Order: sequence, then structure tokens, then C-alpha cells
Amino acid sequence: MVGSVPVGGDAPVSVQSMTTTVTADINATLQQIAALTASGCQIVRVAVPSQDDAEALPIIAKKSQIPVIADIHFQPKYVFAAIEAGCAAVRVNPGNIKKFDDKIGEIARAASDHGVPIRIGVNAGSLDPRLLQKYGKATPEALVESALWECSLFEEHGFRDIKISVKHNDPVVMVQAYRQLAAQCDYPLHLGVTEAGPAFQGTIKSAVAFGALLAEGIGDTIRVSLSAPPVEEIKVGIGILESLNLRERGLEIVSCPSCGRAQVDVYTLAEQVQAGLEGLKVPLRVAVMGCVVNGPGEAREADLGVASGNGKGQIFVKGEVIKTVPESQIVETLIEEALRLAEEMGVEVDLDDDAPGPEVVVR
Ligand code: SF4
Repeated sequence: MVGSVPVGGDAPVSVQSMTTTVTADINATLQQIAALTASGCQIVRVAVPSQDDAEALPIIAKKSQIPVIADIHFQPKYVFAAIEAGCAAVRVNPGNIKKFDDKIGEIARAASDHGVPIRIGVNAGSLDPRLLQKYGKATPEALVESALWECSLFEEHGFRDIKISVKHNDPVVMVQAYRQLAAQCDYPLHLGVTEAGPAFQGTIKSAVAFGALLAEGIGDTIRVSLSAPPVEEIKVGIGILESLNLRERGLEIVSCPSCGRAQVDVYTLAEQVQAGLEGLKVPLRVAVMGCVVNGPGEAREADLGVASGNGKGQIFVKGEVIKTVPESQIVETLIEEALRLAEEMGVEVDLDDDAPGPEVVVR
């Protein structure tokens, strides 16, 4: 468990992120945590590099709606502060905590007394210098040895409430490291491609690496690292889990890539439908197809769809053609039907007439 969120065993894979605010700025940090919570984040990590940050932890841990993990490098005293503050877990980095090693007994006791798990978070960029020398660089073996060495120090004190991460910026190395780790221990694993890059590149790297591992049953909680606002990390993380069917899919637009046969502007149509249904949190598959080659088939398979052609759109609901509308009415018809289906599923929705496009309010 991390606070109220089960992690490991048969628990669903959870999604987490990390705040980018100065933790000591309590209001800004709590605001960002609230935005993350609203976007579906289940666990949040905050950096604790200073005494001011450590002193902010009790209020943040108390007011956050989701479990807070304190991320601590270098200063063992902040580990104790985080445990006392009511943080749901503490992350330590074996590469940066050499000074911790003689304190492990005390940390293990404090964590155990408070029921606080420890994440041993190995990172390629801050690998233990001893292992860097041994392996020459941050190889999968080096990352795994670092993590398991640190685990053994805790195990010597009977402490096993541990989670592990072995992050690398290269998804291939990262996947190998986690595979090796999973073969050598039973601890819950936190997956991450570290320093994955800006949103586009980071999304691809994370999706590829997490997809490979999660498809093999490796991984219990995920953090997508992007050089982008943390809420984006959550969107990507949830999208990855939905794509792998590890989480019920929400709104899904199935749209064709368009081609020389397209008889309608598929890109615009798909974007308008997506924008119009943004915020609708129901499992709904909406097909937006450019012509009659694959259109009717995909539209029939989806909950709702359109197959376009000759300036018209054939609207499908649950496999049946319910009407044919002029091209100019395709978007509004799809949105109306989507909202009707959502209401049938018990979700109350309102159209906001003042908004430039249809806006969905989900209560
Ligand atoms: S549905 Fe039609 S327009 Fe879209 S990609 Fe397929 S053939 Fe091309």
C-alpha cells in the first residue's frame, strides 16, 4: 500500500506524478496536487531538498487528497521528518545516500513503526559511483545490483515494505533492467523512463517501455516523466494503461488516418468531435471514418460512429444506422448522440450554450 492506494500483488497498476513547485510553497504545491488529483493522479511525489520543504510536509500530507511520497536525496534527517509528517512513503536514491547506510537500521525502524513503505529509486544519472566503476556505465546489471544491494541493507533489519525503480533514459536499457529485477525479487516495481524528454518523445519512450513490461506482467505503478506540466504525465500514463486494457477505456475516438479516398476532412472532424466531448468520462468508442471502405465496418463496431461520403455522413449507434445527415451536421449529431448514450449510462451532462463549441459538464 502507498497510503490508501494498493500497490503490488493483484492491485491495478496505479498512475503517479511529481510536483514541479517548490515544496515549501505550500499553497502552490497543494494547488498542483489538486490539479493532478482531478486529472486522475493516484499518488504524488514531492521533492524535499531543504529544511523548509521538510517543514511543509505535515500540512501537504494532511491536505492532499492523494497519498504523498517524499523524495529525498542526501539528507537522512528529512527521511525521519517525512515519516513523522505523515507522508505515505519515502523515496530514497542509493546513488545519493551513502551517508544513509549507517542509518538504515533507524530508518527501517521508523518506517516500520509508522507503516511507511520505502521506494528504493535507482537512477542511471546518479548511479552509485562504486557500481559505475565496476560496470563502466549504467548498465541494466549495474542498476539492478544497486537496487538489490540497498534492499539487502533494509532486509538485514527485517524491513521488507519496499518498492523499487531502476530508471534509465534509454527505454531498451530500462526494459532490460526491469526484466532482470523482476526475475530476482518479488518487490512491487515502480516503472519509469527517466529524463524521457519533451512531451512527444517522452510519451513514445514511456509507452514503448511500459507497454513491453506491463504486457509481461512487470510493473505495479507507473510514472511518465515529461518535460511538460505534470498533468500531461497523468494523461499519458492513463492513456497507456487504457491502451493495454489495464484500465477501462474512457472516451475513445477511433478515427482513420485519411487517404486519397477520403471524402471529408477527417482530421478536422475527429478534432471537433474530440473537443466537443472533452471531459466526458464514460467508456464510449466513437468512430470517425473518412469514406465507405472501412467506415461502415468501424462505425458499426463502435458505440457510435460516422461513415462519410458524398457530402453526407451515415450515423451509426450500437451497430445500426440511425440517420444520414449533411456533412455540416456530422459533428453536432455525433456529440448529441454521445451525450444521449452517456445519459443512458447514468452520467448527467449539460451542453453549455455560451461556449464556442459544445462543452460537456459531467457531474
Ligand atoms: S476509411 Fe477511407 S478515407 Fe479513411 S483511411 Fe480508410 S480508405 Fe482512407
